[in-house]
Amino acid sequence: MSDYKMLINGELVEGAAGKTFPVTNPATGQQFATIALGGQEEVNKAVAAAKKAFPVWSKMPVQARGEVLRRIGAGIRERAEEIAKLDSMNHGSPISVTRNRVMGASFGLEGAGMAMQRIQDQSVDLGNQELAYVRHYPIGVCALITPWNVPLLMSVSKMGPALIAGNTCVMKPPSIDSATTLILGEIITKLGNMVPPGAINIITGPGGTTGNALCSHPDVGMIGFTGSCEAGKAIMAAASGTIKKLSLELGGKNPFIVLEDADLDLTAEWAAACQTSNSGQICASPGRYLVHEKVHDEFVAKFIAAAKKVKVGDPLDPATQMGPLVSEEHLRKVEGYIRSAIAEGATLALGQPGPLPPPLDKGFYVLPTVLTGVTPKIKVYREEIFGPVACITKYTDKDDVIAMANDNTYGLTASVWSKDVNKAIRTGHQIEAGTIYINDHMIMGGLPFGGVKESGFGNGNIEEYTDVRSIYVRIGEGKVNRVLI
Ligand code: NAP
Repeated sequence: MSDYKMLINGELVEGAAGKTFPVTNPATGQQFATIALGGQEEVNKAVAAAKKAFPVWSKMPVQARGEVLRRIGAGIRERAEEIAKLDSMNHGSPISVTRNRVMGASFGLEGAGMAMQRIQDQSVDLGNQELAYVRHYPIGVCALITPWNVPLLMSVSKMGPALIAGNTCVMKPPSIDSATTLILGEIITKLGNMVPPGAINIITGPGGTTGNALCSHPDVGMIGFTGSCEAGKAIMAAASGTIKKLSLELGGKNPFIVLEDADLDLTAEWAAACQTSNSGQICASPGRYLVHEKVHDEFVAKFIAAAKKVKVGDPLDPATQMGPLVSEEHLRKVEGYIRSAIAEGATLALGQPGPLPPPLDKGFYVLPTVLTGVTPKIKVYREEIFGPVACITKYTDKDDVIAMANDNTYGLTASVWSKDVNKAIRTGHQIEAGTIYINDHMIMGGLPFGGVKESGFGNGNIEEYTDVRSIYVRIGEGKVNRVLI
């Protein structure tokens, strides 16, 4: 018997043949629970259930769908402390952070319940012969596939818009930390008849097999995916067989540009906070710092001073500001990046690739790390590390910092720091990224959040989870008197 089960067709279920996989605490390396393991069979059952539920769910009044989301949000709040602790133990984020995230997930679902009213159906004046307007329709079964870095928030940020728009869904949370999303299944089954069986399904299993089966299933109409660029490309290929609609929110290597007149105290403190938040495992996190030579050394010194103050430790300790990385595999990857950067000529200005002293030796910890002298030839200049590792590059008056910022396959976020706000805005407008910050970074608040270039397309808004149809109604009485298409 597993501790956390899948939700298929309104029931909490074990995996075929009772197979499970472990839930590990990254602060200790110890397993503390098991999760039911899904595969092709669960994909087929969940998609069939979602397809069957679609006519019922999509025809429910939008207020009734909104009420279901509101009740799930309330259910999350009732179990807030338990879910926050589980998130800290499974993912490694500090409890002070996961408590906020649980409330964010709850309010996010309630907000999604009201978002349908924000869709503006357009109409066009074609004179007195025709009435022309646009309607948004639900697509059908949506596959919602999410990453491990903010697991519950990611799940609800897709589930809310997909469901309120009238779609049914099959969610596949990340294998490393599915548990908090699977708790949604427990909350949903408690709502009984309010939720048509199969309207919301949650399955588990490895992305490469279970996830791939879901993405290539002919009865899935849309895929809402957040995760790595590599998996995004595989999903695009899997979806191409039946031309599914896609929303791909992928990775980034986000430039943080420090102009020579930046407020260095503010800039460095902000940078260190962004880089260590969630142990650097945030897609919007600054991945590379482009710093003007005149302020480079002072910026580095201030960054290091701020990063040294970050309290690293047990995620369940309320004083902790940065926990471990999510898994041993990810720890090896991040340490590998630090070592390769040093081998390629970068300077380790702060940090210590493992092994670390007790009590951090048992968990998957990386200390806040600063690499200076990161040139375009060094691997970490371009690749997403997804850890608390700042890669700092000095530029001179002769260098074109905009071209340097854009010299990357990703385009997710970017920031420009300067006391001259007009100059910073002019610079920001030329950066190829979905979100540009001016004297700011890593804020999200209601605006579209999507990428350009290989950071993907789509931004998870409710409109994306709809098909747009144009309707023309002849209201004139005359005969055909003009050229048709
Ligand atoms: P990942 O390895 O791409 O996994 C994301 C999800 O996709 C997981 O549920 C995974 O399942 C599944 N998956 C993997 N390969 C698949 C395939 N071939 N077909 C279908 N599903 C597949 O990403 P991650 O390591 O969890 O997350 C980190 C990445 O997400 C970073 O690149 C980060 O920048 C990005 N991210 C982007 C945003 C954004 O808004 N743009 C937000 C957060 C994170 P398993 O867990 O079973 O492998």
